[in-house]
Amino acid sequence: MSDKLSHISPHLRLQVSKRARRMALRLDTKERVVYLVVPAKADMTTAKNFAKEYKHWIQEKIDALPEPVPFHDGVVIPLFGRNVEIRVNYDQTLKRTSIELKPRILLVNTNKKDQKEVSDRIMRFLKKEATRVIRALAVEKAARLGKAIANVSVRDTRSRWGSCAEDGNLSFSWRLIFAPWEALDYVVAHEVAHLVHMNHGKAFWNLCARISTDYETGRDWMRDHGHELMSFGH
Ligand SMILES: [Zn+2]
Repeated sequence: MSDKLSHISPHLRLQVSKRARRMALRLDTKERVVYLVVPAKADMTTAKNFAKEYKHWIQEKIDALPEPVPFHDGVVIPLFGRNVEIRVNYDQTLKRTSIELKPRILLVNTNKKDQKEVSDRIMRFLKKEATRVIRALAVEKAARLGKAIANVSVRDTRSRWGSCAEDGNLSFSWRLIFAPWEALDYVVAHEVAHLVHMNHGKAFWNLCARISTDYETGRDWMRDHGHELMSFGH
């Protein structure tokens, strides 16, 4: 089935879903593909015809995605709102890879020749940095509200930049590291404010504003540019 889908579009993938009630198309900005989501019992011919109708839509969505930004030597990436150049020094005599974040340079000293391996190391380093900064920010904001956070986890989430569970566990995407500071700060403030108000009412937004640097700028940026955060790395 899936190779027949590729005749409709090379960017199309099939996802049979037990939960889906109707057919739908879902853009995956990280994998740069569109999923044809089909309920388990749906008729595949109907599903294929449905996808065919949206052939141009699929291409438009894929074309509109920002170019991927790999973690290679010389590439400039935004980190916490500041442009930082990745500099990779290869030295076969080194025992291990070391990475250091300087004000404008991400310095990588490595004995690895394989670009993918180096890129993986950079990604792990950035995830750690993101976790450290987001965690500290969440704890600080929560303390201002007299709240304690059960746990802050930072991972590679797909659909949401942040979430707050009923039990007080907060979760964030590590990719917020590539967002401007106001945007990252806003996403953290948003979830922390949910520790007090589990809704999006007026009181919630007032609180969110109180514990953010500039929540309107941050919110607008996430709405207009959030999808761009998926283009970093591989
Ligand atoms: Zn919310």
